[in-house]
Amino acid sequence: MARPSLENGAQVVLERAALQHLLDALRQRGYRVVGPTVRENAVVFDEVARLEDLPIGWTDEQGAGTYRLKKQSDKTRFGAVVLSVDGVASEKTAGPSGQTIFGYATGPQSLKKFLHPAEICVWKAKRRGRGFEPQTTGADVSKLALFGVRACDLQTIAVLDRVLMNGGHADSAYKARREKVFVVAVNCARAGGTCFCASMKTGPKATHGFDLAMTEVLDGKRHYFVVEVGSKAGAAVLSGLPHAPAQKAEREAAARVVTEAAQQMGRQLDVAGIKELLYRNYEHPRWDDVAARCLTCGNCTMVCPTCFCNTIEDATDIAGTEARRVRKWDSCFTLAFTYTHFGNIRMSPRSRYRQWLTHKLGWWVDQFDMFGCVGCGRCIAWCPAKIDLTEEVSKVVASG
Ligand code: SF4
Ligand code: SF4
Repeated sequence: MARPSLENGAQVVLERAALQHLLDALRQRGYRVVGPTVRENAVVFDEVARLEDLPIGWTDEQGAGTYRLKKQSDKTRFGAVVLSVDGVASEKTAGPSGQTIFGYATGPQSLKKFLHPAEICVWKAKRRGRGFEPQTTGADVSKLALFGVRACDLQTIAVLDRVLMNGGHADSAYKARREKVFVVAVNCARAGGTCFCASMKTGPKATHGFDLAMTEVLDGKRHYFVVEVGSKAGAAVLSGLPHAPAQKAEREAAARVVTEAAQQMGRQLDVAGIKELLYRNYEHPRWDDVAARCLTCGNCTMVCPTCFCNTIEDATDIAGTEARRVRKWDSCFTLAFTYTHFGNIRMSPRSRYRQWLTHKLGWWVDQFDMFGCVGCGRCIAWCPAKIDLTEEVSKVVASG
């Protein structure tokens, strides 16, 4: 069979077993491969080497303040995957051949932790006599393959690129990591309970920012991936794997998977004119309503893939022999975050929640010409008070 031309946009088919070859090929090229894996009842990103490291047979149930990992109960039909969640019974019915690998939606972690880590040492020094001698900080900037990246998190990378690399002041730590990244995206086959990427036009299909993008198709007994080439680097990796040109029926099956995921999405955010609407409503009574529920815990900012704010802490060890300057994620929900020479400028939960939401959907547009929200829904699932930004915005819109 003639091999397809592996130009950008070319679509080929990898059978399920060939996915292991893809993981191997990335590792052989010197990439540390991080992808979805199950740890402590959640899908998180960590190092993956074998197919079995991936969340085979798992799905999730998400809602406001809710995240549950469950075994799949798969009912398949031609060209599309239909998943139902029914707990214990599903474990008995889902055989290995009926289990999808990417049947979950977003987990609590985004890829932010690899590109913009929660804590990095930016400077350190050791005591030498009466002075200090600077030391290398030893940052890990090895080649990194991000495997199984959802469309919303591709947009996350685009947002972080804009903020931390392509603006007037590039963050050298981010840039060093970002330039060594290879991205294998996976199109969503089902929408999570808190997703609203379709209304943000950031998903569920990967449209940019990937080297390879896969769509998983479980068609009766056949389990395969339609893989789209997104870059020369992607084509080079793919060319060494056993693949075949995607036939019309296979391409249509893959397209159907993504269409159905978009149709399942239960939440949406109407962003037309949202910036102006929020600017007009600084004193809307809904800010008081949400403030009465918000714990100002900052969970939403920690799980949010695009929240990039950080603080700097200086410390010495207890013996005073080593000094370190550390950069750490910070949150606009902490009191100290806006402490200035005349005190804290956002004392109330009302002002802090309003700041967060208005930045995401308003000032971010003024600053970076894009929204600071990608519609991943993590802040909804991981808010202990079940606060849902789509609902909060809709209440302001309703009377704004
Ligand atoms: S909105 Fe929810 S997650 Fe965010 S600070 Fe308030 S209580 Fe915490
Ligand atoms: S604001 Fe919420 S939905 Fe939007 S990107 Fe952040 S975590 Fe995801």
